[in-house]
Amino acid sequence: MLDRRPGSQPSSGIDFSLLDKPVQFLKGVGPRRAEALQRMGLLTARDVLYHVPRRYDDASTIQPIASLQTGQDATIVGTVRSKGVIPTRARLRIFQAVVQDGSGRVTLSWPGQPWLDRKLSEGDVILATGPVRFYHGPQLQPREFTLLSRAASAGQGEALALDDVAAGAIFVSYPASEDVPQWALRSLFERNLDALLKLVIKEEYLPAVEREPLGLPALGEALQAMHRPSSLAEAELGRKRLAFDELFFLQLVQAQVRHRQTTERPGITHRRTNELVRPLHEALPFALTGAQADVLRDIANDMTSSRRMNRLLQGDVGAGKTLVALFAMLVAAEGGWQSALLAPTEILAEQHARKLRELTAELPVEVALLTGRQSAAERRAALAAIASGEARLVVGTHALLQDKVEFARLGLVVVDEQHRFGVRQRMALAEREPAPDVLVMSATPIPRSLALTLYGDLDLSVLDELPPGRKPIQTHLRTPARRGAVHRFVDEELEAGRQAYIVYPLVEESEKVDLKAATQEYEHLRTEVFAHRRVGLLHGQMPGEEKDAVMRAFLAGDLDILVATTVIEVGIDVPNASVMVIEHAERFGLSQLHQLRGRVGRGAAESHCVLISQGGELASERLKTFRDTSDGFEIARADLQIRGQGDLFGAQQSGKDPILRFADLTRDEQLLVRAQQLARRVIEADPELRAPAHAAIAAVLRNRWAERLKLFGVG
Ligand code: ADP
Ligand code: MG
Repeated sequence: MLDRRPGSQPSSGIDFSLLDKPVQFLKGVGPRRAEALQRMGLLTARDVLYHVPRRYDDASTIQPIASLQTGQDATIVGTVRSKGVIPTRARLRIFQAVVQDGSGRVTLSWPGQPWLDRKLSEGDVILATGPVRFYHGPQLQPREFTLLSRAASAGQGEALALDDVAAGAIFVSYPASEDVPQWALRSLFERNLDALLKLVIKEEYLPAVEREPLGLPALGEALQAMHRPSSLAEAELGRKRLAFDELFFLQLVQAQVRHRQTTERPGITHRRTNELVRPLHEALPFALTGAQADVLRDIANDMTSSRRMNRLLQGDVGAGKTLVALFAMLVAAEGGWQSALLAPTEILAEQHARKLRELTAELPVEVALLTGRQSAAERRAALAAIASGEARLVVGTHALLQDKVEFARLGLVVVDEQHRFGVRQRMALAEREPAPDVLVMSATPIPRSLALTLYGDLDLSVLDELPPGRKPIQTHLRTPARRGAVHRFVDEELEAGRQAYIVYPLVEESEKVDLKAATQEYEHLRTEVFAHRRVGLLHGQMPGEEKDAVMRAFLAGDLDILVATTVIEVGIDVPNASVMVIEHAERFGLSQLHQLRGRVGRGAAESHCVLISQGGELASERLKTFRDTSDGFEIARADLQIRGQGDLFGAQQSGKDPILRFADLTRDEQLLVRAQQLARRVIEADPELRAPAHAAIAAVLRNRWAERLKLFGVG
């Protein structure tokens, strides 16, 4: 991390304490308002300045009242002229207000909210959005409304007439609270924004020469544009600048990690002879895909340079990542180096070892396997082959990470990554001297923007092409009413000698949610529906060995049906399994469904994935998207869009101070690429940020980002 000794950095001249002052120092904020602001999470002047609107309205969204049409959804701005609560026969009390703009008047109606009578006064100016209904004339039923100014603060109210809308005025709505209503926030900014902007411009770290090619405004302009935009486009540009800041500092810390990993430590310069790579190439019964060839070229370039490789390989299930890894391992072997392939579980390690042995059967290389469940003799033999260097390809679980394991000449580490965040646990294996090259393989695709964010310290290679001739998996949507037919279909497949998975989203019956727990349903399937079949159960709370035993039995064909929660391992290969039934499919994320679907379609038989779901309209839209899409990257993008990025980052993002408040990974990929480029350029030139030209960057990083980024798990 950055050196924090006083005096080790050139002075940036930035005084952060000015904006770090508590909110009481703001004009118009007394002790009570300060407390209310604190309850909203606004503790300092800076928090207030960065409390930006959640919504903007202008002439493109605000309609003249005279033009309202029954049946439409409309947003209006106007002054309250009269108001009152009217009782109805059904004892429902309705609050109504007549609101006027320069074009006309309309009644706003809030059924069941009589208390609004105390909140709104005649003369208040409000912005309201909702459907227009007809009831003795058109009425608007606000779904949402904002008190723009109070009658009391007259003069301001007049300034917010419809004429201003026509003249291009923009109405901003802040996230407000019960204690700090909209109008209070507006008046807070009215009185303080200019002073705050004067302070924030001193925190600018991005010089105009860097900013302008990116089309980004200065920090002060950006915040001004967000609070007082003169157009919606300007507000968006302001957002982009704040988004850039978030992405840039995240990338900066990742670039430092990358620099330490790839440049500071001496890497291995691998020497290619083609003695092993060419024969494998020639022996393969198929040609490499274009994507595989491209990625291999990147990897070979990294490996033959003196810089250390630190690369993430992304690809859809079945895109041929393992084969790419094997080629990389052979490049290392040609120069006499050993490679280690790390798998998350024993079954996967065994599967990898088996595949590598098959593929290298004709080559003069030996494959050693090291797992926790080997006999003492097997283990001794493997350790000896690894220590002597005889085994040039080594496959194993974390058993490989133990100190006892000595490699003669470890030159490449391949991590078959089970979890997205696993990369953070820096591997003991890669910490040796000289530093082995590192290739991390992701289990399922994630969108490029997300990969760049989470793995900004790695270089990214993408296998975006599947080998030709893959049979698509038939995906079907069924309601629970059709479950009987689905089970009969499963039985037909079993009759033809194949195997099936049936997956449930939970293990224990939850009190609140009416889901059939896997264990309970398993009993029903085993003793009734499929009493004549061999049915096994796999769930997350079983002890490790038991899970292993069940999985092995299924793999060996000793079970016909595997009833499981989502613990079915990513990457597990049972070619004879041809049906995947997923119960309560609406409970799964799309990427998760895609991983599950990828467990079938690995053999010659036509394969099927059946989603059983009762879900509402939204759920079935999502599931239809899934049914009609086989591309994992496209599914991952849809998932990001639907679930939002907060969910994908996990807990770190949901706190008060999320890393990405302004950046939107579904839209800002280009911005992210530019942020990464700049961050890497700065760090390559000046890894510790000691140059006077980088003093401001170093200071902003230290004062504003270091702590937050640590929470995020980088740095
Ligand atoms: P991944 O690890 O990406 O899920 P694998 O490397 O396990 O994919 O490959 C899946 C299957 O596709 C394997 O049986 C592999 O031999 C085969 N395969 C890999 N590359 C190609 C290719 N270029 N053409 C045809 N089949 C391929
Ligand atoms: Mg694989």
